Amino acid sequence: MNIYDTYETIIGLEVHVQLATKSKAFCSDDTTFGADPNTHISVISLGHPGTLPKMNKKQVEFAVRLGLALNCEINPRNTFDRKNYFYADLPKGYQITQDASPICLGGQLEIKVGEEKKTIRLHHIHMEEDAGKLIHDVDPEHSLVDLNRAGVPLLEIVTEPDFRSAEEVDVFMNAMRQLVRYLEVSDGNMEEGSLRCDCNVSVRKKGDIQLNERCEIKNMNSMRYARQAIKFERKRQIDLMEKGERVAQNTLNFDPSTGTTSPLRQKEDAHDYRYFPEPDLPPIVLSEQYIEKIKLEMPPLPNELVDKFSIEFQLPKYDVGLLTEEKETAFFFLEICKKTNNYKAVSNLVINKIKPYCNEVKIGISKFKVSPKSLAEFADLIEDGKVSSSIAYQRLFPALIKEPEKSPEIIAQELSLFQSNDEGFLEKIVNEVLENNPKEVEAYKKGKKNLIGFFMGQVMKSSRGKAEPKSTSTLLRKKLEK
Ligand code: ADP
Ligand code: MG
Repeated sequence: MNIYDTYETIIGLEVHVQLATKSKAFCSDDTTFGADPNTHISVISLGHPGTLPKMNKKQVEFAVRLGLALNCEINPRNTFDRKNYFYADLPKGYQITQDASPICLGGQLEIKVGEEKKTIRLHHIHMEEDAGKLIHDVDPEHSLVDLNRAGVPLLEIVTEPDFRSAEEVDVFMNAMRQLVRYLEVSDGNMEEGSLRCDCNVSVRKKGDIQLNERCEIKNMNSMRYARQAIKFERKRQIDLMEKGERVAQNTLNFDPSTGTTSPLRQKEDAHDYRYFPEPDLPPIVLSEQYIEKIKLEMPPLPNELVDKFSIEFQLPKYDVGLLTEEKETAFFFLEICKKTNNYKAVSNLVINKIKPYCNEVKIGISKFKVSPKSLAEFADLIEDGKVSSSIAYQRLFPALIKEPEKSPEIIAQELSLFQSNDEGFLEKIVNEVLENNPKEVEAYKKGKKNLIGFFMGQVMKSSRGKAEPKSTSTLLRKKLEK
């Protein structure tokens, strides 16, 4: 047995979510991403003496919303602390965070890895502020500081060490991204750093109960890199243990260009942050009514919609995945499903026609100009066998987009798109097709039964898609097997 297979990987995450508030956590500076350096700053975010922070109500609301969605206990009286350290991107010399009494306690998120469901427990969620950004690649002589991000509100979600593979981490982070977007608390954009995580990694012999020393890989904002970093770290730690050496508790940096981790600082000589209660901010006191109100305003969550679409609507996994990826699509789909029970036909329509169309003309699906009622009617026309799906997609759909106010049924009538199972009409075409293809008829009769597809195609072509498939195939077989 391979020695590596006798170890398991243990991972716990500290996930940072940058909140989609208009202003910063403790002052009114703008938070828009990508502004010119040092234009979204003020005496408060610069940490000038004598200034006072003031809590952003939205940050609290977003924290409670996320906490409720993750089944946390909401801490009705939570407080802020100062985390002291010296760094060029931190003008105040300390970060305002929650250490002793965070806003959300416990909680969990269920993830699905392959076919298996797994629950990841959360330790807590706390509110804090971001630091500024150092820029090392603009000036050859100096490092520059951009403080636009200093004071931007964050939530930090700390999980229990429940992950056993990089794949589970990947699935969890994607679920988290989807969730914060559904809740509209963050844009979840990993490239812009709105969602990032520190990965705490340790290894232990399978069967062992005790956890070993861990390393913390900082600031992963790409899941591809996180996977590489975890894989590298796992091997590095196993190799050390096999040599009988100790894994030192380090904070690590991952270098994508080499695929390796290297120490940023060592825990032993590292930080004493000298946490103490933030004297400039009062405790956050949350009433039951306040929490209840946020609960009532909660939108349906991705996991609930996945269950609804797969169990109640009986849709295949592939459809469910695409329909629930974004809230906008899921809600749009749900609106149509209020007017019809032909869920699969609606799903096909949304996935195969409406989404691609919206992507092409670069609009959100909620801006699609045909009403849910018309789209339900469109799906019914297909499902009731009145218009073939190919004709509906190729001719009715574009016509409907040109005249979004008009009923699909009326358009179908005007363009005479209804498919026919009228015996006389069908028989005439079937006879013609058989007469025009004597060789194929011969071959079919000698046993080449899959030629039925060829005949179907010919009938569809000469009827311009109007022949109803089931009656056509019955009639064809009847004639060919005579
Ligand atoms: P701190 O960073 O303040 O020391 P904790 O020790 O509670 O905080 O843990 C921080 C993160 O490290 C959590 O996400 C936790 O799940 C994870 N973690 C703790 N111990 C281990 C371990 N032995 N292996 C992997 N992850 C761990
Ligand atoms: Mg930590």
